[in-house]
This record gives sequence, structure tokens and C-alpha cells, in this order.
Amino acid sequence: MTIRMQPDYRLSIAQIVPRTEAEGPGVRFALWFQGCPLRCPGCCNPEMLPFEGGTPMALGEIVRQMGQGLESHGIEGITLLGGEPLAHAPGAAALARAAREIGLSVMVFTGYTLEEARQMPDTAVAELLAHTDILVDGPYVREQPDSTRRWIGSTNQRVHFLSERYRADDPCWRQPNTLEIRLREGELAVNGFPARSAVGLWRRPPWRTPRDP
Ligand code: SF4
Repeated sequence: MTIRMQPDYRLSIAQIVPRTEAEGPGVRFALWFQGCPLRCPGCCNPEMLPFEGGTPMALGEIVRQMGQGLESHGIEGITLLGGEPLAHAPGAAALARAAREIGLSVMVFTGYTLEEARQMPDTAVAELLAHTDILVDGPYVREQPDSTRRWIGSTNQRVHFLSERYRADDPCWRQPNTLEIRLREGELAVNGFPARSAVGLWRRPPWRTPRDP
């Protein structure tokens, strides 16, 4: 079941934010995959639904950026979003494994439920789950917005602690939601709640400009 990939294996990436405090506990490296087979009404990232487009990036380059994030920004983990991470399971699993190997935690947002994920025949999905600390599951339901739980889009979505690294009573879950706005090369970048459900993510891929915020 172990997913080992060549460093030049390419992942389809919609966006990377190398340092964010708006996509999970602490300071994190956040990555959005390009492509999702689901169609939640009101999806805030419609431009990330097609599997075409995005930017192909080598696994080794992303892992290098994660390591740089640890050294330069003291990130405590990575967050995988989409698009749909489970639809990119081999690459997502390889990233999660690499993150764990350098001591980073892994948080994943998926539109599938945990039960659905566990029934998927793709062994890479199981590998991804095995290297995930926090899984936020279930489709986004526009009619059920969640105004109380940090980082969570709708009330049907559940937070699963798949390792001992985090707990539901950690103080981070009781802090207010965070919205980050960056100005980079004359364009605005927005991420974090309520961007996930209301504003939408801004679209210029920041990884093309290696200068961090
Ligand atoms: S799973 Fe996420 S990216 Fe996919 S349609 Fe639903 S909200 Fe959009």
C-alpha cells in the first residue's frame, strides 16, 4: 500500500500558499489541487473543478517548498484542499507522507465522507488517510452554513482526528475565523474563511513568484 513516487511525478495544482494561518491549526503550507468530480451547489472554487488547467508541478519541487516552509516560516503542517484531494490521491498521499517524514502535520479537506473514502478501491486513498491528522469531510452544503466552527464551511461537515496530534478541545478551534488578503504584483490574493464560502479564492498562482508574503 505504500505510495512511493519519483520526485519528477507531476501533480496538477491550482494554487499554493506557502505560509498561511487561515487554513488549519498554526502556520501552514496550503495546496489546492486542480480538479474535482463533485459538484456541490455554491462551491466557492468553481475554477478548480475542471481537471484541465492548473499547473503541473513536480512532486520533488513541492516537497522542497514544504521543507523551505519549515525552515523559513516554522510551519507546523500542510493543508490539502481543492478541487478534491482524494481525486489526486497518489500525489496527495506522497505529499502527506513526505510532510510526516519531516515532522509536519497533515490536514485534508474532502467533499467525500470518511466512510466513502474508506470504501474507495484506490489504495492511495487509504495511504493518504493513514498520513492525515485532521480530515474535514463531506460536501459543502450552501443551505447549511457553519458560523461556529473554525475553518468549516457547512454544518454537515465533520472533523475527524485521525491521529493523536490534535484534539477537538485544542484552543485553536475556539479562535475566530481568519481571512488573509495579500497584494502580490498588483493583484489581490484572498484565502481562509469566509473566502472558502463567500468570497472565493483569488486566482493568480503565487508559486510562480517564489517571494513569500
Ligand atoms: S467537493 Fe469542494 S471543490 Fe468539489 S464541488 Fe464540493 S465544494 Fe467544490
